Amino acid sequence: MLFGGHVSGGVKAAPERAGEIGANALQLFVQSPRAWRFPNHDPEVLGGFAERARSAGIEATIVHAIYLCNFASPDDELYGKSVATLGSTVDTACAIGADGVVFHVGSHLGSGFEAGLKRAVPALEQVLERCSDTTWLLVENSAGTGGTIGRSLEELAMIVERLDVHPRLGICLDSCHLWASGYDVTDPSALDELLDRFDALIGLDRLRVLHVNDSQTELGSNRDRHANLGEGLIGDKLSVFLGNRRLQDLPAIVETEGQQGKGADEVEMRKLRALWKKGTRRTRAPARKRGSSARRPAARGTRGSRSRGRRSG
Ligand SMILES: [Zn+2]
Repeated sequence: MLFGGHVSGGVKAAPERAGEIGANALQLFVQSPRAWRFPNHDPEVLGGFAERARSAGIEATIVHAIYLCNFASPDDELYGKSVATLGSTVDTACAIGADGVVFHVGSHLGSGFEAGLKRAVPALEQVLERCSDTTWLLVENSAGTGGTIGRSLEELAMIVERLDVHPRLGICLDSCHLWASGYDVTDPSALDELLDRFDALIGLDRLRVLHVNDSQTELGSNRDRHANLGEGLIGDKLSVFLGNRRLQDLPAIVETEGQQGKGADEVEMRKLRALWKKGTRRTRAPARKRGSSARRPAARGTRGSRSRGRRSG
């Protein structure tokens, strides 16, 4: 697993910031998240990004599209701005060599799931054409607030299917949003069921990024309120999510406020690693029934160092 945070600083300073907090993966915005205006990035800054990230020890870079975007909106102006912005975001992500662009589909604002999907599909088709072989478009699951699309695996699967199972379309699962939309990520067997179902409906090879956040609101609340790690209702049990065997090849990105309210920091990164350690200790413990495992060799190597390896392709 790679350990990352959403950091400030944009294309100019995010790699250095991520390195400072002890991350080996990073997520960033490539424009101010509060405004539509897309900056004219200096091509030299974009061209040098990958090398700066490498020297800061960063092994995975994810761009997050701004939250103003809504691809399911019945409003033409908002829809048009959303498509243009995501297009520019993808172009910038390709220019810096990012692994993916995470975005929220948005809300149908009362027009219904099917109507929202009919709006989103052609928008995303256009944007997918701008992705490169190594920079994917990643749909994030929603907390289920209002008419947001992507609240369940079934909805995510429907998006993938309607986009003809595009080879550069993937998924980002957020632990807080899963919890808020009713998936108990603190229960090992519920989490296993969730991943079985993900694999059956979508295919686990499309799961490319994890967002690791605690939640201020209860299971199934449909409210999107991130809490600092260990300070919300998921608490220590976030270790179950982080420790799951099938999630070990992924970058895990913290998107919390941190101690100063300024985003992921050293403290959050330390907590992230500690929770992962706790969770992987659990999954390394013999889970099989006595007898069936008696003759199995004990050597399991050092999972920590082995799982650092980045997934390829
Ligand atoms: Zn998220």
